[in-house]
Amino acid sequence: RASLSYKATPTVVEVGNIKIGAGNFAMIGGPCSIEGLDKLDEVAAAVKDAGANMLRGGAYKPRTSPYAFQGLGEEGLEILERVGAKYDLPVVTEVMAVDQVDLFDGIDMYQIGARNMQNFDLLKVVGKTNKPVLLKRGMAASIEDMLMAAEYILAQGNPNVVLCERGIRTYETATRNTLDLSAIPVLRSKTHLPIVIDPSHAVGKREWVESMAMAAVAAGCDGLIIEIHQNPDEAWSDGRQSLTLDAYKKLTAKVQALHTFL
Ligand code: PEP
Ligand code: MN
Repeated sequence: RASLSYKATPTVVEVGNIKIGAGNFAMIGGPCSIEGLDKLDEVAAAVKDAGANMLRGGAYKPRTSPYAFQGLGEEGLEILERVGAKYDLPVVTEVMAVDQVDLFDGIDMYQIGARNMQNFDLLKVVGKTNKPVLLKRGMAASIEDMLMAAEYILAQGNPNVVLCERGIRTYETATRNTLDLSAIPVLRSKTHLPIVIDPSHAVGKREWVESMAMAAVAAGCDGLIIEIHQNPDEAWSDGRQSLTLDAYKKLTAKVQALHTFL
């Protein structure tokens, strides 16, 4: 169960060779979409060089338009596995459907996207595995809704759930979504599960990612998942919110300094 009344000590989720929770910080970086082996290799080298400890990249993409790039699919998963192994970085990528789950054997962590947070069949299937799950908050989901979605995974026997706040829809249009920073203390008061923040999808513009990332660290999150790209303006998805590799390195150093200070 997710509740603190069931388990009072913070849960530590092990993803490959790293830990998330109880003071163990996950600095996850990578492109929105995997765009090919060489490009992902370059990004992964930068993630490693920055001192971050985990790699992201989408192979199955839940795009708003059916005409937009839908991801490299199985080929993307293979690229991610290979690059993660080369740089010794655990990898996380989104699983969109029940019939994809079997393809994720070589992946270290499932991502359940915002649009699938209440796909209960999918939650049950990943709950029957032992693989860690990054569960993103639905764009119109309450904190209680997210905790109940986590419960679907836990109830099947998989205790390795990490919650991810990625911004919710509000009337504000200046940002892509509204980052609910207060979800951090609220979740802390209710659950032992680790909390990761995704400032990229929250703000939607790269120049605003750093301030929200730092605020989230100050508020006590257990990790950050951030979109980066070697040439953000040319990215196949979410380029506007993707940091350059250089900016990511600078941010990672600041995050480390602040996290150590805390
Ligand atoms: C993503 O991580 O690229 C993504 C699609 O995220 P979300 O489900 O939060 O929109
Ligand atoms: Mn994205």
